[in-house]
Amino acid sequence: MYIEIDKGSGFCFGVVHAIEVAERELAVDKELYCLGDIVHNHEEVERLEKLGMKIISHDDLPALEGKKVLFRAHGEHPNTYKTAFKNGITIIDATCPVVLRLQNKIRRSYDEVSKNESQIVIFGKELHPEVNGLYGQTFCRGIIVSSFDDLTQIDYSKPVRLFVQTTKSLDKFHEMSKEIERRMRAVNPDVEPDLLVFDTICRQMSNRVPALQKFVTRFDIVLFVSGRKSSNGNFLFQKCKEINPATYFISQSGELKRIWFEGKEKVGICGATSTPMWLMEKIAEEVQKIGE
Ligand code: SF4
Repeated sequence: MYIEIDKGSGFCFGVVHAIEVAERELAVDKELYCLGDIVHNHEEVERLEKLGMKIISHDDLPALEGKKVLFRAHGEHPNTYKTAFKNGITIIDATCPVVLRLQNKIRRSYDEVSKNESQIVIFGKELHPEVNGLYGQTFCRGIIVSSFDDLTQIDYSKPVRLFVQTTKSLDKFHEMSKEIERRMRAVNPDVEPDLLVFDTICRQMSNRVPALQKFVTRFDIVLFVSGRKSSNGNFLFQKCKEINPATYFISQSGELKRIWFEGKEKVGICGATSTPMWLMEKIAEEVQKIGE
């Protein structure tokens, strides 16, 4: 069997940075708390836990006086910073620079909003940690929309500033902005809509779709490796499956099934922005054994 790992798959630079920061801290004093999973990948989290990292929730934060707490690549709500400062916690901030830039952009836009009654609209998954952090930049006065059903919250007679979660699909974002524009025109047919659209999708993410779709065409079977909690993983898996229906979602080598490989010669292995390369390599070794 010929087995190939997609070189473009694996951690994005935001996740690589967060993990490097964690490893650096753990090398110094073996105690580090991380607010939520540092990456949506159980195996990688387990590896870091063995080095001394402890995953905590926001509820645990007030009790961690004097401890070091890492804020992961997704970024945090301003209230989380306040809680940390209030409780004497040392923040190790590993927010991805792309997310940080977006947070600042929304904050600046929010500061202008009061002047012209604009509405800050964020297209993203409600309760997603990144979206929560973005929403916080609007002092919780923004509007989160995840589907057309949520668009009833917008007042179409007023200006709209539209932002998007970094990991959203470009196509869906375009659909959303077009629909908002259509509704604004419907309410005020004689006035050009005061709609500013900020495409804040991370290119580390959106560029992967065409690259992955090209990759999967070359194989009889494709193994897409990702944690099940990863929204990026689930999205990219669907994109791969659209092109090659013989694509299987797995999180670890124990999920491999011999029957998938019967009569197959070429196996492609790829993954999400949260999938470690070492895991894909481990899976390639297991597939090799099945082939033998
Ligand atoms: S997908 Fe992009 S924005 Fe999100 S953590 Fe990775 S590099 Fe940063």
